[in-house]
Formats: sequence, structure tokens, C-alpha cells
Amino acid sequence: MIALGFNHEPLQMQVHIKNQYLGDKEYIQKLYFKWLKDMAEEELNRAVMKYYDILKDRGIPDPTVDIRIMKSRWGTCICNKNKIVLNLFLIKLPIYCIEYVVLHEFSHFKHPNHSKKFYDLIAEYMPDWKVRKKMIDEEYSIIRLNLFYYILHML
Ligand SMILES: [Zn+2]
Repeated sequence: MIALGFNHEPLQMQVHIKNQYLGDKEYIQKLYFKWLKDMAEEELNRAVMKYYDILKDRGIPDPTVDIRIMKSRWGTCICNKNKIVLNLFLIKLPIYCIEYVVLHEFSHFKHPNHSKKFYDLIAEYMPDWKVRKKMIDEEYSIIRLNLFYYILHML
């Protein structure tokens, strides 16, 4: 049994839109993404800080974090630039899964591949990483697959 740490209750967004913008899909879509991005910056940076604190003694750098929409991955590590890129849509996942993605990308600073050593490092700090990864792959792949559907049809 795993305790699932969902990071937020269903959230509601209340916006006041001037009459001139009513029905302006593009404008409302921009507001929605700004709202998502604000939430994502807070939540994802918190997870990054947590794992940076845990891992800094292992010689892992304090990375810059870039949050953006990516078509086919949840995160990526640009090791030579000390940078971690996280998918904006991670904010739709429970913190339990977000933390796996963050630790995964941090671990690439030590091992740029997906070798046994890479997963051993993850397991040291997150013994249940397999469950988290499975959950992401199985339950949340739909978010990734439907990303563009979301963007085009959410309104
Ligand atoms: Zn990887």
C-alpha cells in the first residue's frame, strides 16, 4: 500500500473577464496557462529545492530550472548547462510522481544514461521509485499523449 500525496484538491480558477474579451478563446487560454505556470513554478521549484538539499553533498549542482510544455517527456537534464527542464503539465500529477521526475533528472548529473548505477542512485533516496515510475507511465501517460488535444480543445 502506498500513501498517495496528492498535491492539491481540485482547484478552481475564477477570473473576471472584461466584456470585450468574452468569447476570446486565445485570451482565456493565455490566462489559463499563466495560472498553470504560476502554480507549476511554486510547486516544481519546491520539489527541486528539496532534492537539491538532499543531494548537494553528492556534488550535484544547484540547477537552473526551466518550466515549459514538452511534447513527449516529463523532464530533461541539460547537464553541461546545469539545467533541468520540467514539463509544465507535471503540475497535474501528484507530488509523489513529481518528486520522482525531479530526482530522476537530478540523478542525470551523476549518470547521463539510464544505467544500473543511475537507478541505484535513485533507489538510495527513493526506495519506491519503481511504483512511482509505473504510476507515471501508466496512469498519467494520457496527459502526455493528449497534450495537444488539451491545448486545442480545453475551452
Ligand atoms: Zn532519464
